[in-house]
Amino acid sequence: MRSKPLLLLDVDGVLNPSRRSSLRYRRHNCVVDGGLYRLLLDRRHGPLLLSLARDTNAELVWATTWEEHANVEIAPRVGLPRLPVIRVTGDPVSKAGEHFKTRPVADYVDGRPFVWFDDGLTTADDDYLRAHEGVGDFLLVHVDARHGLDGNHLAQAREWLTGTAGAAD
Ligand SMILES: [Mg+2]
Repeated sequence: MRSKPLLLLDVDGVLNPSRRSSLRYRRHNCVVDGGLYRLLLDRRHGPLLLSLARDTNAELVWATTWEEHANVEIAPRVGLPRLPVIRVTGDPVSKAGEHFKTRPVADYVDGRPFVWFDDGLTTADDDYLRAHEGVGDFLLVHVDARHGLDGNHLAQAREWLTGTAGAAD
């Protein structure tokens, strides 16, 4: 039996776009470690992601430099529960042009299929993950940071999980 797929979730550029691309986004100020962050968040994102996870029997996980702060500052504002966190800020070394989050992600997934919603991934990340022992099937969903996560991204994930990764061996 296949292991449960993962849905990896970024914050900045995905849940928090760089501009207010839709009226659904509301402005939020939050203070983390004494720094003020101005965010644009859409309360529909949580329910949409939760139904995607439920329907595809997948597990949502944070893959963001917000790390645990995402559970405190982001999750309640978009309607998500507390989620597991991939620690991505520990060793920001990139050897082949891959994103600094890509190595920690490769270690974390441990062979489980995964979809990764992020605005900062390139072909270097795809190459890195394909070459990395222990990384199984995956889909990188490239989100435009100016617009944030939308229905097309969720549909891509749903299609891939139900058509490929979700299929029985
Ligand atoms: Mg980002």
